[in-house]
Amino acid sequence: MTATLIDGKAMAQEIEASVRDRIGRHRALGHRAPSLAVIRIGDHAPSGIYVENKRRACQRVGIDATLHALPEDTTAAELTALIRDLNRDDGVDGILLQLPLPARLQETPFIETIDPSKDVDGAHPMNLGRLAARTPGLRPCTSRGIIHLLTRIGEPFYSRHAVVVGASNLVGRPMALELLLAGATVTICHRFTRDLESHVRRADILVVAVGQPRLIPGDWVAPGATVIDVGINREKDRLVGDVDFERARERASFITPVPGGVGPMTVAMLLDNTLEATVARSGRQVAY
Ligand code: NAD
Repeated sequence: MTATLIDGKAMAQEIEASVRDRIGRHRALGHRAPSLAVIRIGDHAPSGIYVENKRRACQRVGIDATLHALPEDTTAAELTALIRDLNRDDGVDGILLQLPLPARLQETPFIETIDPSKDVDGAHPMNLGRLAARTPGLRPCTSRGIIHLLTRIGEPFYSRHAVVVGASNLVGRPMALELLLAGATVTICHRFTRDLESHVRRADILVVAVGQPRLIPGDWVAPGATVIDVGINREKDRLVGDVDFERARERASFITPVPGGVGPMTVAMLLDNTLEATVARSGRQVAY
């Protein structure tokens, strides 16, 4: 069997078109354009590329994105003050704090300072808690994007055993909660899991978000499984995922490529979340 590639780029373009269209209708009701504040600290190179991708995507759909580029030596008090200003500013609908922060700044207190109604990354404990409680608000972008991809390929969640490798607040945990919400039976693996192979072999849906090139050998993939590779690892001049793509592709029924799978969906979901936050804040629904 050779797996069908899941084209995240094409699906992200469809979502972008839909967001652009809905923003048009929102504005036709007399509202201003959605506005996103992006905070970036220091000059971590990959973050610079991610921020630029997000900024360009905002431009394509009609979201006003403002970059707050703070110096590497920004203090905790300065960052807190900026987030509080943005929380209070009625002209700002979404706040994105680009991670990682410089090592001396702990991320959690700043994430918790963001107004949950402007938390377009879905990272605030209120939004993660809502997802856990089955009343989702703003949802983390990567896992939400993956649910879109799985839905699009017709994944029958109710009868499926999903295995998530990686349990970070950013990806693995919300992914497990999304899959549970969708009706799958979920196993979560992490760095302390014993015999990872035995879990991976039992996955109908395998989502890997670890950040180690080819951690999952293709031979571990169950025949006919759906494989979602979230990992982005730089290897010389190219990007590779956390799964041994070539061998896994021979066994899976569906698989995401790296790049061009999950990544574009993460950006598309940020746009969708920003519109969702905007509409909720304007107190009206867009006419669909
Ligand atoms: P993280 O470092 O915060 O978390 C990694 C997780 O993997 C942890 O839960 C850890 O316990 C687990 N882990 C580590 N070694 C393991 C092992 N040997 N076996 C099983 N589990 C192990 O990373 P993250 O922020 O969740 O990101 C993971 C990867 O996903 C990275 O490559 C990152 O670049 C990528 N990522 C991609 C997107 C996207 O849009 N495609 C978005 C976010 C993150």
